[in-house]
Amino acid sequence: MTTDDVRPGGLAVWAPSKTPPIGVDLTEEQMLAVAFRHLADLGFAENMAGHITWQLDGRTDMLVNPWGLWWKELTASDICVVDEDARVVRGRWDVTPAIHIHTELHRLRPDARVVIHNHPYYVSVLAALGVLPELMHQTGALFLDDMHLVPTYDGEIDAPWRAIELAKEVGSANMILLANHGVIITGGTLAEAVYRAASIERVCKLAYDVMLTGRTPSAMNRGDLIGMKASLIERAADVYWAGAARMTIKADRAVLD
Ligand SMILES: [Zn+2]
Repeated sequence: MTTDDVRPGGLAVWAPSKTPPIGVDLTEEQMLAVAFRHLADLGFAENMAGHITWQLDGRTDMLVNPWGLWWKELTASDICVVDEDARVVRGRWDVTPAIHIHTELHRLRPDARVVIHNHPYYVSVLAALGVLPELMHQTGALFLDDMHLVPTYDGEIDAPWRAIELAKEVGSANMILLANHGVIITGGTLAEAVYRAASIERVCKLAYDVMLTGRTPSAMNRGDLIGMKASLIERAADVYWAGAARMTIKADRAVLD
């Protein structure tokens, strides 16, 4: 077998007959609140910065967190709804103009039903260096051929035109590293996007720690990475999400309020 032979992966190779469920029916607002709390628990959120937007299938408006609440304190009733131009149409609080990053990406990328942005620490280390993480571990396969570096990012998005320029630049990637800033993660489902967001911080931490050794990492076969990527997306994302939801709800059921 050469290193270019593609190893099959995903549900075509193995599909579980049963997987552990969340165990409770959740509204979309409850699911989103759980996603905020879970990612905050992992250290993904820099206090109250960043957004997760979720544009449900067939809709142009989107669910989002309001300005001023930390990700780790959000509950379902805090979730706002904004229209495609970022005007609040439902909710108790306001949103910031930074949300235009999300509205413009949703507009250009109908595949991206969920957009997550924040400044997790190890992502921010690589963003400060202006480099994408080298993929050298199974989890990194999730981002194979799916990363884009925005080499110059001049800070706050305070007007729609800045967000339109950015959205045009990022193309079809599901992981966009913004130099000197943070990351944008996209996904076709909430589970997929949350799994990518949780994984990218770990991938960047691993890449950074390997860089610190000053040694050349062992190379992975591209063909193997392709199979692993399919397995992670098709088989792991939903199961990951169900576990994250179970643990988050168990930790504080008030997240569903
Ligand atoms: Zn930001």
